[in-house]
Amino acid sequence: MIGFMPSIYHDELVYSWLARYYAHSGHPAYVFALEDLMEKKNTRPDVEFMCKLNKDAQSIISKMLPMEELILGHTMFPYYRFAGNIRLSHALKSMSGNQGNAYQLLPVSKGKHGVQAKYIKYCPLCVLEARETYGEAYWDRKSTIRNINICPRHKCRLKETSIGISAKQSPRLYVAEVEIPDGMAGLVEDGLELRLAEYMLAVFQMPIVFTNEVQAGDFLRSRLEGTRYLSIRGMQMHISLLLDDLIGFYEELQGAAKGEAGEQDIQYQGITEKHQLQHIFSNKSSDFYKICQLAFFLGISPGELTNPKLPERTQTELYNEKVAQLYSEGLGCHRIARKVGGSSSTVRKANKVKERKQHDYAAAKLGKQAEDWERMDKDMLSEVQKAINEIYDGADRPKRVTEYAVTQYMGWPERRLNYLPKCRELVKSYYEEFPVYWAREVVWAYKKLLETKEESDIHWRDIRNLTNLRNDNFKAAFPYLEEFTDVQTGEKIKSLLP
Ligand SMILES: [Zn+2]
Repeated sequence: MIGFMPSIYHDELVYSWLARYYAHSGHPAYVFALEDLMEKKNTRPDVEFMCKLNKDAQSIISKMLPMEELILGHTMFPYYRFAGNIRLSHALKSMSGNQGNAYQLLPVSKGKHGVQAKYIKYCPLCVLEARETYGEAYWDRKSTIRNINICPRHKCRLKETSIGISAKQSPRLYVAEVEIPDGMAGLVEDGLELRLAEYMLAVFQMPIVFTNEVQAGDFLRSRLEGTRYLSIRGMQMHISLLLDDLIGFYEELQGAAKGEAGEQDIQYQGITEKHQLQHIFSNKSSDFYKICQLAFFLGISPGELTNPKLPERTQTELYNEKVAQLYSEGLGCHRIARKVGGSSSTVRKANKVKERKQHDYAAAKLGKQAEDWERMDKDMLSEVQKAINEIYDGADRPKRVTEYAVTQYMGWPERRLNYLPKCRELVKSYYEEFPVYWAREVVWAYKKLLETKEESDIHWRDIRNLTNLRNDNFKAAFPYLEEFTDVQTGEKIKSLLP
């Protein structure tokens, strides 16, 4: 039974909050406090995320603030913001439903590369402020961000406790007020380390725009356009050059932290190899530190990085269009090359694309105007609606309506929807998060099975065979079943789970 639950402070970790609950509860030992709160008595509390709460604690806490807010505002969830929005929304749903394990849902690195901070840190001046304002200290998220050793607010070094963070040997409930001694703050000089820390904190604190489907890697690649890291036609990336410049830019960081900070983050140097850059650009890596490092180097603001927009046309498209236009004016490849840059063979290559995709570049050749796009946007709206209906119901199975699927269906070039805002809006209005889509798929599968089988003959594996859903996907779909079928059928479907 829970006693008094204090309210949570700004940016406070859930872990810290639970520890303060213990401190205020009057329990003789922290295990009793955990018993009040946790689903399993012997749970080891997690510093970065949240452990599964029991029913009682859940209902009290969710009355104080919604679970989603708790996870987004009081755990390290936003550190994994580059993991792709589909994965993130699924993780957030599971976690706020008190299900699922953050270490499986999110790409939390526990590897040997030392990304994991070893000990809980704190800012001595933030602690001083909290003591003056609230009469007690607490552990905040700001100081728990991996690879930041500075409090950007106070421009001072974080201090390290001896309380380990690692998931394996999780700490007990350490109360910040008890653990943190009064102490002096070591101020840092204005410099690259401080600016990068400020940048990372700003990125961390930006809201996650779950509806934005642009991936960080695609966006970062688009921001190489017009730089020396991309060939003039935009087809080739000069990765080695980028890596050299990046390492040179961050050189002063290598030694910076060594003096005063603890050992923990020094061995983690961020981007040092070409393949790490390639992984970012191909959306394989979602590492917060490396992505911030690259974006900061490229001069991208936290707002742009966290709600990215791709340019309407890529450098390659623009180049090809320019070449096509000059060809149509009767210029030869050598003259064009002098005008647009690049070699005459680059120009010829660009022109070949034009021939292959005559249709696409007809627009550029004719100097197609904005009003043409506007007319097309209106004219195509009903066609796009038809395409959406076909995709949604699917010829053989329901499908998810995405910009990609519609563009494919219409046989359009990749970025056509970028020019057709009304059509694009229509497509977007069909956006479904995966668990919702799975629910629709499961209901479809169940009804399909009923065509050939008795109700009692339908099993989970039949659904699985039809939909390829994993057990946990299936479970994630449960809350949405009733959007697509009646309550009774929904219950029958749920009971299929072994
Ligand atoms: Zn501070």
